[in-house]
Amino acid sequence: MENNRPVVKLISKPQNMLRTIYTACRTCYSADSPVNIYDNAVDEEKMLKLIERVISSGHYSTIEHVQVSFAISNVSRACTHQFVRHRHVSFSQKSQRYVKEKGQFDYITPPTVAKNPELLQKYEDFMSKIADFYTEMTESGIPAEDARFVLPNAAASSIVASLNLRELIHIANIRLCSRAQYEIRVMVKMMCEELLKEEPWLAPYLVPKCERLGYCDEDKCCGRKAKKEEFLSNQQKITS
Ligand SMILES: Cc1cc2nc3c(=O)[nH]c(=O)nc-3n(C[C@H](O)[C@H](O)[C@H](O)COP(=O)(O)OP(=O)(O)OC[C@H]3O[C@@H](n4cnc5c(N)ncnc54)[C@H](O)[C@@H]3O)c2cc1C
Repeated sequence: MENNRPVVKLISKPQNMLRTIYTACRTCYSADSPVNIYDNAVDEEKMLKLIERVISSGHYSTIEHVQVSFAISNVSRACTHQFVRHRHVSFSQKSQRYVKEKGQFDYITPPTVAKNPELLQKYEDFMSKIADFYTEMTESGIPAEDARFVLPNAAASSIVASLNLRELIHIANIRLCSRAQYEIRVMVKMMCEELLKEEPWLAPYLVPKCERLGYCDEDKCCGRKAKKEEFLSNQQKITS
């Protein structure tokens, strides 16, 4: 997986992320103006307490005011295809119409294939055959937008993604879950780690959904948290 690891960089984020969200939260419950709230913001601990209370109550518009952007490369089209299904993200992706592949195109090898020498050899031979046929087509005058029909899900891609914090938390909650496919899980983990370097207070939010819920709501559970039914029956025992 090492050579196949996504490359992820946080390229844009607001300077006063926490204070912006605090101002949005506090504005809802204060007679004071947002300008005064922002200029006279309380200390970080108090801001975090209010933000946690507001987010836990489901008042999510308050975390839509801050937007982050990531530059991502060395991920497969299989991964980006899943990523672009998220409807509150703005994407700009390397075009297979305008960027013609030259020789062997870059591709991603899943770790399950990489650790099987026999299958890995066949996988690489297959990619090389596809590259040969792609080149034969483009050299015969077939436009890249048509020759790309033979490119596989494994073909490497690059994408710039911009999203607000509400959507990032949603994506982290579902794509860090062990039920998500490995590559998007790795990519989203790297996105979260990039942001956490600068905004460590987000750590309790950028987690698999079971960490926020306290239980697992998936059919197949990895065991990290108790299944929902088990969790609820335990809660009932504690309160009765
Ligand atoms: C483990 C896993 C397996 C999956 N398997 C499949 C599969 O087999 N086949 C498949 O096609 N897809 C699959 N998906 C993709 C999934 O169905 C969604 O397309 C993807 O998760 C993006 O949608 P989203 O609901 O997460 O919300 P986003 O698009 O990220 O939007 C965030 C939230 O906004 C709200 N929202 C957005 N758009 C609307 C709307 N039109 N109406 C109402 N509310 C809206 C919802 O609350 C939503 O949760 C899978 C996803 C995961 C995580």
